Amino acid sequence: MERIERLKLRDKTSEAIERSKARFGELGMDFDLPEELQMLKETVRRFVDRELIPLEREYRPGEEEGMPEHLLKPLQEKTKALGLWMLDVPQEYGGAGLDLLSRCIITEELSRSVAVPFRHVEIFGPQVRPVLFHCNEDQKERFLFPVLRGEMQVCFAQTEPDAGSDPASMKTRAVRDGDYFIVNGTKRFISGAGRADYAQVMAVTDPEKRARGGITCLMVDMKSPGVILERQWPTMMGDAPWQIVFEDVRVPAADVIGKVGEGFSLGQSWIQEGRIRGHGARPVGIAQRALDMMIDYAHHRVTFGRPLAERQAVQFMVADSAMELHAARLMVYECAWRHDRGEDVRNLSYMVKITCAEMAGRVVDRSIQVHGGVGLTRDLPLEWWYRQLRSIRITEGATEVLRWRLAQNLMRARKHD
Ligand SMILES: Cc1cc2nc3c(=O)[nH]c(=O)nc-3n(C[C@H](O)[C@H](O)[C@H](O)COP(=O)(O)OP(=O)(O)OC[C@H]3O[C@@H](n4cnc5c(N)ncnc54)[C@H](O)[C@@H]3O)c2cc1C
Repeated sequence: MERIERLKLRDKTSEAIERSKARFGELGMDFDLPEELQMLKETVRRFVDRELIPLEREYRPGEEEGMPEHLLKPLQEKTKALGLWMLDVPQEYGGAGLDLLSRCIITEELSRSVAVPFRHVEIFGPQVRPVLFHCNEDQKERFLFPVLRGEMQVCFAQTEPDAGSDPASMKTRAVRDGDYFIVNGTKRFISGAGRADYAQVMAVTDPEKRARGGITCLMVDMKSPGVILERQWPTMMGDAPWQIVFEDVRVPAADVIGKVGEGFSLGQSWIQEGRIRGHGARPVGIAQRALDMMIDYAHHRVTFGRPLAERQAVQFMVADSAMELHAARLMVYECAWRHDRGEDVRNLSYMVKITCAEMAGRVVDRSIQVHGGVGLTRDLPLEWWYRQLRSIRITEGATEVLRWRLAQNLMRARKHD
């Protein structure tokens, strides 16, 4: 009896092996980027090496939001000429309509330079908040198109003094009054509010439903009576987001984006993309250059009669950085690729952000260590990256919150198996 079972098992195993062989023969498993993406990567790499890295001696993003016009405009002309313009804008609005994987690859290469603002990147065209793609026809004329033409700036206002990681507990209210909503509340840490024409404000319209149909996205004219730019919060990264108070601000009901109660889910879908590209691909690009710099310096710097490259302590830092970077890059590419195929990548996107943000922090830290005193100076980009990377372990989802959510999802799924 036992022998018969063993034979059956052997037959099943060899069948599975044959099936697997046939499948690999047909489909193969390819970890190389498709040729067109390799070419895109190469084009952006050349642009960064020629145009941005030399600019680093002259320009390092500081407190101002975005790049100064006299530097930005010539760069924009060059990216337009290369066909790298409005990458995340759908083709129907004149953009390139690139998928997320392509945009991750561009971001990865771009992030190798420190001459790029961390939170307001306009080198490839005006910054468009994707929520605006949900505008109706009339709103497109008033909001989306002026933003695409570079004539209007919009900030995104969700966080509040008592609602950061848990935005669903926000207190800002929008109460219907005929053809208007009356908005009251305080928003904190809002990037770009000082120069924004409009704020995309998330406000509670139904306190019972909250995140499940009770939060609405309203376009609030920053010149409206009752909008007060209360203060700025200067940060260690150099930028200084704003605190905005809304006191009985009258907002036309025609300026609600999407449906009433739909705002929260619109905002969240945008944040997921940001997690993969901004908090995944960008740290990968930063870590790549920090590692390259670490290796170059180790070859040239001689201490005690030998180059640092010959010291095992330094070699281990190089090896650990290369391993972690490799794993993180594959995670970003896989997650973006699955996202583009329409798969649910919520859990993967949490893994990507946590892995990449923490990995790049460690790689930049090691690179500073290998550079010694010069690594701490502002002559090198390392100290700037060190500060920026520290911030993304908190902004747009603290890593503890993402770990908590990830574990909850995994445990819930296993329970239902
Ligand atoms: C420079 C900058 C720019 C920003 N720009 C914008 C913007 O343009 N628009 C906007 O709306 N917001 C913006 N923010 C806000 C940002 O997204 C929030 O700061 C972030 O979501 C964290 O919220 P919080 O600061 O209130 O931290 P809190 O929610 O108070 O959390 C504090 C800490 O508690 C821990 N924690 C919280 N919850 C849990 C949990 N469940 N389990 C375990 N640990 C937990 C984490 O370690 C977290 O870091 C910006 C912030 C900064 C600093």
